[in-house]
Amino acid sequence: YDGKRPAVEDLTFTALPGQTIALVGPTGAGKSTAIALLHRAFDPQSGFIKIDGMDVRGLKLAALRRNIGVVFQEALLFNRSIRENLLVGKPDATDEELRSAAARAQALDFIDRAEQGFDTNAGERGRMLSGGERQRLSIARALLKDPPILILDEATSALDAVTEAKLNAALDEVMKDRTTFVIAHRLSTIRKATRILVFENGRVIESGTFDELVAQGGHFAELAKAQFMVQESARSALGASASDGPTVKA
Ligand code: ADP
Repeated sequence: YDGKRPAVEDLTFTALPGQTIALVGPTGAGKSTAIALLHRAFDPQSGFIKIDGMDVRGLKLAALRRNIGVVFQEALLFNRSIRENLLVGKPDATDEELRSAAARAQALDFIDRAEQGFDTNAGERGRMLSGGERQRLSIARALLKDPPILILDEATSALDAVTEAKLNAALDEVMKDRTTFVIAHRLSTIRKATRILVFENGRVIESGTFDELVAQGGHFAELAKAQFMVQESARSALGASASDGPTVKA
């Protein structure tokens, strides 16, 4: 960014269609930058990114962005109705398509409960909605867009068990049959990933599946112990299912 120090370096990986690539690591490690390069918020100073063998710089930006759906932690919502916010994903979507996408994103219940349903105003930056609701709207929008590639920036904030379960269901739905790059914070996502890339100081220092990385006993294993075991004990304390639990043995 500033020309002094590269934000990411020596970054090489391949994602096959339908795979989920999880990017994990501390703040400032380069995860968002790697993602920004993919949808061409920036271009790399050296190296290249190819989609289906084509350098992304050879694609029209509109075509590239049509093929990539983005669900960010802070969903970009406008001070318009929920309907208009969803139509961003597919401007000519029918009411039936809107309802179906909202249902699959676990958003239909709260939309129907709102006095004006799909005509309810989302408020400035979606302020009239809770964080969990904003995320699910953002997922509904991505479902309407239906792109082959998905970029997901997971929420870091703690969610209550019910919201978490709904979000999990919505995420499963939107990630299905899509090549997904996810800046992952949640154990369930990380466990399910085809491959985890562990970022530190702009480099990928480890990569593999959850079980491989835990078995390696490196940085990720430490992180898993420190971070995810805490999540897990909190979850068991709530009496929730432990089926997503890590296989880490302390
Ligand atoms: P992460 O997503 O893992 O938190 P980032 O990709 O945001 O990491 O950051 C990688 C590095 O690039 C950090 O040193 C960060 O300060 C720097 N950086 C990120 N975005 C910008 C920007 N827009 N301008 C300048 N530096 C940036």
